[in-house]
Amino acid sequence: MTFRVTCVTLFPEAFPGTLGLSIVGAALERGAFALDAVDIRPFGVGRRLTVDDTPSGGGAGLVMRADVAAAAIDSVSRDGRPVIYLSPRGAPLTQARVRELAAGPGVILLCGRFEGLDERVIEARGLEEVSIGDFVLAGGEVAALALVEACVRLLPGVAGNNESLVEESFEAGLLEHPHYTRPQVWEGREIPAVLVSGDHKKVDEWRRNQAEQLTKARRPDLYAASRASSPTGAQGRSRDGKM
Ligand code: SAH
Repeated sequence: MTFRVTCVTLFPEAFPGTLGLSIVGAALERGAFALDAVDIRPFGVGRRLTVDDTPSGGGAGLVMRADVAAAAIDSVSRDGRPVIYLSPRGAPLTQARVRELAAGPGVILLCGRFEGLDERVIEARGLEEVSIGDFVLAGGEVAALALVEACVRLLPGVAGNNESLVEESFEAGLLEHPHYTRPQVWEGREIPAVLVSGDHKKVDEWRRNQAEQLTKARRPDLYAASRASSPTGAQGRSRDGKM
């Protein structure tokens, strides 16, 4: 079954955007996933198709109207897909959630603008709020592109080498080891000798060790979680991150 993405947005021209490039763009072209954008504007009210209004209780900015957002969402047939509102208040997006979404029928993504969305439509339509990080964008479109790109590259046949998916950052609960490629010496810096030794066991050990040191230094939270999830600590994990 094709992974189907519908983005509900005031700026449909933001799509496919970067989803039209490289391996993801090729996947879109050959129909490995389907993407459509639904314009919120025609669901606006009045002669000027208004989609927003001033915040109840006062304050700066504008809020997207519940009736307008609901009409746009309701125009999309769900077909078992979760409806996600991209929002800085949402649950931080993780690779685990990306993997779950990629295994499902697709996603419907509501992109906010202005100060955000009338709370009642979040409740009434059971929207799942997802954040792509602790910072504030001007709109949900870039967040939607990021979420879709993360999902699509996990679909079968999209990323050429499945092993590279299994070994990369987060999949094993650790950040990824450093990469090198030719030339052997660049600006006086050499590729670590172990990587050109041809000893695959030593290479694996070096990479695992680098991944652990990097994770410990940069992301103590991830490191602690990876040790907690493995009785022998991160050391005990096999190459593919599974026990
Ligand atoms: N006033 C809001 C921010 C609104 S930003 C607040 O403080 O929470 C406008 C829109 O950008 C939001 O409706 C949301 O769709 C999107 N957006 C901004 N930051 C985001 C983030 N970190 N993750 C996902 N979507 C985000």
